[in-house]
Amino acid sequence: MTAAMNLGFPRMGGQRELKKALERFWSNRSDADNLEAVARQLRAAHWRLQQAAGIAHIPSNDFSLYDHVLDTAVMVGMIPERFKHLPAGVERDFAMARGVAHEGERIGAAALEMTKWFDTNYHYLVPEIGPGQGFTLGSTKPVDEFLEAKGLGITTRPVLLGPASLLLLGKAKGENFDPIALWPRLLPVYEEILRRLSAAGAPWVQIDEPCLVTDASVRALPALEPIFERLAGAAGSMNILLATYFGGLADALPTVFRLPVKAVHLDLVRGSDPLHEVLPLVQPDQVLSLGLVDGRNIWKADLTQALGRAEKAADLLGADRLWIAPSCSLLHVPVDLEGETGLDPELKNWLAFARQKLDEVSLIARGVEGGRSAIEEALAENEAALRSRRDSPRTRSLEVRRRLAAVTPEALARAHPYPARKAAQRHRTPLPILPTTTIGSFPQTDEVRKARASFRSGKWRADEYDAFLKARVVEAIRWQEEVGIDVLVHGEFERNDMVEYFGENLEGFAFTANGWVQSYGSRCVKPPVIFGDVTRRGPMTVAWAEYAQSLTARPVKGMLTGPVTILQWSFVRDDQPRRETCWQIALAIRDEVVDLEQAGIGVIQIDEPALREGLPLRHKDWADYLQWAVDAFRLASAAVRDETQIHTHMCYCEFNDIIASIAALDADVISIETSRSQMELLGAFAEFRYPNEVGPGVYDIHSPRVPSPQQIEQLLDRALAVLSPEQLWVNPDCGLKTRRWEEVKPALVALVAAARSVRQRLEGASVSAPGIP
Ligand code: GLN
Ligand code: ZN
Repeated sequence: MTAAMNLGFPRMGGQRELKKALERFWSNRSDADNLEAVARQLRAAHWRLQQAAGIAHIPSNDFSLYDHVLDTAVMVGMIPERFKHLPAGVERDFAMARGVAHEGERIGAAALEMTKWFDTNYHYLVPEIGPGQGFTLGSTKPVDEFLEAKGLGITTRPVLLGPASLLLLGKAKGENFDPIALWPRLLPVYEEILRRLSAAGAPWVQIDEPCLVTDASVRALPALEPIFERLAGAAGSMNILLATYFGGLADALPTVFRLPVKAVHLDLVRGSDPLHEVLPLVQPDQVLSLGLVDGRNIWKADLTQALGRAEKAADLLGADRLWIAPSCSLLHVPVDLEGETGLDPELKNWLAFARQKLDEVSLIARGVEGGRSAIEEALAENEAALRSRRDSPRTRSLEVRRRLAAVTPEALARAHPYPARKAAQRHRTPLPILPTTTIGSFPQTDEVRKARASFRSGKWRADEYDAFLKARVVEAIRWQEEVGIDVLVHGEFERNDMVEYFGENLEGFAFTANGWVQSYGSRCVKPPVIFGDVTRRGPMTVAWAEYAQSLTARPVKGMLTGPVTILQWSFVRDDQPRRETCWQIALAIRDEVVDLEQAGIGVIQIDEPALREGLPLRHKDWADYLQWAVDAFRLASAAVRDETQIHTHMCYCEFNDIIASIAALDADVISIETSRSQMELLGAFAEFRYPNEVGPGVYDIHSPRVPSPQQIEQLLDRALAVLSPEQLWVNPDCGLKTRRWEEVKPALVALVAAARSVRQRLEGASVSAPGIP
């Protein structure tokens, strides 16, 4: 029998119940029992929902209060020294996830680092591994949750993050040390867990090894066979499903099917392993799980096409050696489309969230089992929905397509190279050396948020809200003038979010009411849906920039989000290459840039914090992505005159391996995050001899700590060791919207004081040493 199965379900709940429960707990408004009760209810509801959808293999231990990588680290006893004094339990888990503040007697401890889970927008906590790491059984969560479901009458398949991926995802503490080498020491804990799961009566266990779809798999491959030999031994009569997702296995394919596992899951949406090459590798007693329904996006699956692929596999393997599944865990899509009453019926009919995807999985399985006639009606409905999407005039704009087709190489390049532009910019916008600026946003205070809510709910008229925002801009401009900042910003008070704001002002975007996905811990994001060709209805930011500029003689910097970031942080249409969607957005931003210039704005910043995030998982695919992503930025920015200064901003990423692409953006100025690493990140810019101007962040905006002028001066001196004074800008790490004015004000006063002091020193030096150019 072809079984429908699932790899993982979103944890938060359709109404973000988990988020609310976590935040109540953290702010001492509830206790651990309350939190656990909410978690239990969610798990039970999700298991039942999957059962009702006809899923035969329902996962457990896919739930987590914070993060499944953290849970796995705790399970194997990877507790960093600084948390060891805390008793095991949720409090210690949250301490590792969120850090402990230093307070009176209590010694503080920094949280584990957080980083992106492969190329998703989910962030996991990075386990720390030193060469001396020992492993012990630290929790029995997988067994407990299996038994919890069993108690409800539901037999689940516990999910474990596999030992190879756990080690590869960790952060090596120590030189020349590869954590994968520790697998023999780690294995006994996994063996113990498998023995306990088997004893508890689990018929299957799912071992996730997503690292096998990355280049890091070469480090794991030699260990894979001995690892799985031992796991299979410990599992006894319990069967192992090895799950891979987010890409193809490529060279790892033959090894994976040689392992002593009873089933292998492949991502057939993102994976590029051709089915006809996979099928002959499946051992006679193995089951193949086909990931046919996209777990990373919100579009309805093409059921006929998916069924076709499944039938092909069934022909060779037999229907009872096949499972149908989503491509990966459904963690990355919202829970339920049903409640989205705000979406128009046509668009809604094109979408599928987690719940609807499970229905699709079930349908495909039934289609393989009982033939197409068994699901005739559903197939017809699905075809009609796909046709409606394919044929809808809403998804295509002839004008945009013509314009995109006509883009020439000249459109991707500024009129003159940077040195010529620099002179023109100096002339148009005279600035001192080491000019000071900020990254764009000022505090989004309760007052600002309340005003937005009042406007959105209809309590405030548009003109009332507008007057409120203008008053905030006036305050911000006056205040920046007083402090003595050189290039001002209007403060972004009108923006809820740097992507949503633009999406709401562009054609081709739709917004859900409840389409939340987990970003990290209790943090969720609600990505816009890009369903059609992107066009600008009209200017989006010009009035704000113009208004701010009318208030001051100092230059005001226009503030835009770049095309790659808008693309990365949205659910993107799957009926054309990402590149094309990105370039359409770029054209819209390009028009905005030109309008800003025409309105008299001489400095324009285009933020691209997500540029690096878009990098494909396999290194061989990097060059292609970087080419079109960089060109998208250039398309957005290059239409301006020499004297208009283009800035970009990026934060919290490694620059070393993409520095050439960053330079290829050809922005006149780039501001980057560097203060947390004490300017270490600047090394890449120095080594590369980055030609344009750079604003290395001089204070960490994620910390409420206010820096002193001396600290900032020290950082500026470090920057000056590798950059020339003509290249250097002075700015914070990132936007200030999450901070309070009480923190921002003294910090920026210190920043200006530090810049002035270094300027004086430099100018003094050049006066006393006239021979030096
Ligand atoms: N201009 C944006 C801001 O200041 C940049 C945010 C970001 O880089 N994430 O808020
Ligand atoms: Zn930033």
